[in-house]
Amino acid sequence: MEFIDLKTQYKLYKDEIDKKISANLNNASFINGSDVRELENTLAAYVGVKHAVACSNGTDALLIALMAYGIKKGDEIITTPFTFAATAEVICMLGATPVFVDIEERTYNIDVTKIASKITKYTKGIIPVSLYGQAADMDEINRIAKKHGLFVIEDACQSFGAVYKGKKSCALSDVSATSFFPSKPLGCYGDGGMMFTDDDELASKLRCVANHGQQGRYNHVMLGLNFRLDTIQAGILLAKFKHFEDEAEKRKTIGAKYTEMFKGSEVITPYLAPYTDRCVYAQYSIRVNNREDVIKKLNEAGVPTAVHYPMPLHLQPAYLYLGGKKGDYPVSEAVAREIMSLPMHPFLKDAEIESIVSLF
Ligand SMILES: *Cc1c(COP(=O)(O)O)cnc(C)c1O
Repeated sequence: MEFIDLKTQYKLYKDEIDKKISANLNNASFINGSDVRELENTLAAYVGVKHAVACSNGTDALLIALMAYGIKKGDEIITTPFTFAATAEVICMLGATPVFVDIEERTYNIDVTKIASKITKYTKGIIPVSLYGQAADMDEINRIAKKHGLFVIEDACQSFGAVYKGKKSCALSDVSATSFFPSKPLGCYGDGGMMFTDDDELASKLRCVANHGQQGRYNHVMLGLNFRLDTIQAGILLAKFKHFEDEAEKRKTIGAKYTEMFKGSEVITPYLAPYTDRCVYAQYSIRVNNREDVIKKLNEAGVPTAVHYPMPLHLQPAYLYLGGKKGDYPVSEAVAREIMSLPMHPFLKDAEIESIVSLF
């Protein structure tokens, strides 16, 4: 059994994917080829925003957005400690300070009731994370941000395809960042990422930062770096995207099937908030109070598992300089002790789900 079955997916779409790769090898337009722009247009239309800007990966998408806002030493950015390190490291890399706000106990996303008290005169923006494929409560976050003159960057690296109050994740804030890492809901065959925004001026800044701060060749108007997406990856994504909506629906159904099968057990299954129209289950993550035993039993039965994430960022060695200590974010710490992820991909069969759940 596979945790995420990329091999089956490739076999199913092989002809279309191979055709795209071969076309790009033949026309040798490896950087900024036409597939990159086509992918941007296709995904912007799908998400429902004006601009999409492709880039090297999800981490860089977050970094570029912060650079476009001119974030620097002394600035504070509010985010959650219960996320992948990328969300916070990009803030630190610019010399700014991540200010953590604990998560909400059921959705594992930032607790909107705790944001306002962390806002200071140094706060510039909020990066909520739409964890495990469910959008954070973006309307409420946007309301708080607007009141205090802050920007909002949705870390949508796990939530491409998720739907919040009828709108797609990635279209819910000033700008959003997603990842095409192979195991994400929409993945390429290497690294890739994208930013989305409705703001014309911001979009041109994002594009500029991602390409050496250039506006026209050799005219460097701001500091940037090389954050481009390869044309080959864009082509692969175009081929895979044709099946994405179908896959997103399957993910939703498979998540619901797991949850249905767990009914009556002590396992805490994912909670879908009333504002969630579709969770894409980047991970199907459950909570158990005897995680070590459960993992051992599942692994011995041939069921792969993972833990996203075993330690909140404020307790990770690299972030101790921020002054975090045990007990600072009790919900994140408690969830980190109990959380574990089960196999999740669009090709998971009912019989497999049943056999996994029967091991509990
Ligand atoms: C995967 C991920 C990232 C980083 O994306 P990469 O493409 O791997 O750089 C950032 N934030 C979250 C929440 C992620 O899951």
